[in-house]
Amino acid sequence: MMTASSTVEFTRRAANVFFHVLTRCNLRCRHCYIHPKQHGRKRLPIASIERWLAVFAERSPGANVVFLGGEPTLHPDLPQAVRCARRLGFASITIDTNGYLFNRILDRVTPAEVDVFSFSLDGATPATNDGLRGQGSYDTCLEGLRKARAKGFRTSLIYTVSRANLHELPRMGPLLNDLGVERFFIQVLGLRGKAASPGGAAGARPILRVSRTEWLEIVPAAAAAVARRGIRVIYPKVFMAPHETFECAGRVADNYFVFPNGRVYRCPLCEDLPIHSLAFDGDRLVETPSMNESDLFRLDIPEGCVMNKLIQPDNLTATAAGVPEYKIACCLLKEEISAGS
Ligand code: SF4
Ligand code: SF4
Repeated sequence: MMTASSTVEFTRRAANVFFHVLTRCNLRCRHCYIHPKQHGRKRLPIASIERWLAVFAERSPGANVVFLGGEPTLHPDLPQAVRCARRLGFASITIDTNGYLFNRILDRVTPAEVDVFSFSLDGATPATNDGLRGQGSYDTCLEGLRKARAKGFRTSLIYTVSRANLHELPRMGPLLNDLGVERFFIQVLGLRGKAASPGGAAGARPILRVSRTEWLEIVPAAAAAVARRGIRVIYPKVFMAPHETFECAGRVADNYFVFPNGRVYRCPLCEDLPIHSLAFDGDRLVETPSMNESDLFRLDIPEGCVMNKLIQPDNLTATAAGVPEYKIACCLLKEEISAGS
């Protein structure tokens, strides 16, 4: 089978609400992006979840909603939140989970209510995954995914690439077929949360991001190999040639990253900083005063993404004359590959 590759373009027709209903989690992943100092430790009450969902339903009709955390299934009222999103007309409802599936979630929602359960796994083997996500998390994730499939739910799997697991990415294809996963998301490790803290969670340098050479050598080929197995693969573009057109999703797309402490960001790379452009004041979504992330979105720089240059400039290179050799794409710009004929 051939594969067809295309860049998924930003569009205002596809608004996305990434709703962190709590920040608590049973796992302690080495690269966890949750930053309690910025995102709090609160579990958002269901009454607030419902009112905030209504705000987004009115502001961006037909948006997709992704419930996440922390581990969102730790929220006992998640099924009610799902049904509320359905009633409000969200185009699709996804639950991101580490696979532990608390509060009997699979018995309390139906495939008609939840479009996709999206599981996180960071290795093709227990040794690699559990080294990043914790002992037993590989087996539990696979068991949870199989249970979800057995109940008729559609599933996807997210693999966050770092130096610790890049080598196992090319081995994911058979496992994904065996599990019956429909979509495979490859993510790049972002310098956020624990991955950004000096010393990291492991006591040494933070878990390492892969270099441009490593990324280009391994990821596109591994993604194409999975796509040839009939699975849709979505992965970030990351590196752009100087002539390619750069766009910042903060300017042209309609994404909301909502935290239980009321902060609402338009860019996930900004989440470690108090520069959110929107916030819930009670149940009203209001703009925050300048300076905030929106002021950064407006800056045009030859290196592409401004936030990348601010928080992770080590992935940029320049010629002797100081001209950037490539641009860093918006982290929300994705390539999608599916099997073609
Ligand atoms: S990365 Fe996800 S599963 Fe891992 S500790 Fe953080 S919230 Fe939990
Ligand atoms: S990742 Fe960069 S380009 Fe994308 S929204 Fe954030 S600042 Fe803009």
